[in-house]
Amino acid sequence: MTEVECYENYPVCIPALSTVQTLMIYGIGAYVFSRYSQIMLALYLLYIIWIELRVLEKSCRNCVYYGKLCGLGRGKICALILKKGNQKFAEKKITWKDLVPDFLAFLLPLLAGIPLLLQNWDWILAGLMVTLLLLATAGNGIIRGRVCKHCKQRRLGCPAEQMFQRKSTTIP
Ligand code: SF4
Repeated sequence: MTEVECYENYPVCIPALSTVQTLMIYGIGAYVFSRYSQIMLALYLLYIIWIELRVLEKSCRNCVYYGKLCGLGRGKICALILKKGNQKFAEKKITWKDLVPDFLAFLLPLLAGIPLLLQNWDWILAGLMVTLLLLATAGNGIIRGRVCKHCKQRRLGCPAEQMFQRKSTTIP
């Protein structure tokens, strides 16, 4: 059996695809909140900025892809705005609680879209909501699967993978 190659820098198409997926999720989220008010839109955008900075600060600064083209495209961005961290990424522990802010980035607009649709059915909005759901579930699974498969950090130790393994071993 041939061993799967670990990328030092990912081929551009992978971070490009993952960035498009993320921007589409945020874009649809922003559109949903803009249907409420400009203030709601601004709050959502501030929230997105906060969760992105949080990932760079808590994870990417300490990742082996810091300064490199990682599968999600943040390794290079991180090096532009933050100094390299000194925490060992593999020793980090994450729980479901740490993932809640990321889930909310798509769950909040999904929930916010329901009253809009109930008030006044709109096929465009309904289509965007379905797209959002697919991007955040199946789309995410496909892209993350492809990214993780070639990830060097995964071989060195990935807190997310360890968390999912912990979970699977506790299920009878
Ligand atoms: S692989 Fe993940 S943690 Fe590492 S730089 Fe890329 S997005 Fe950040």
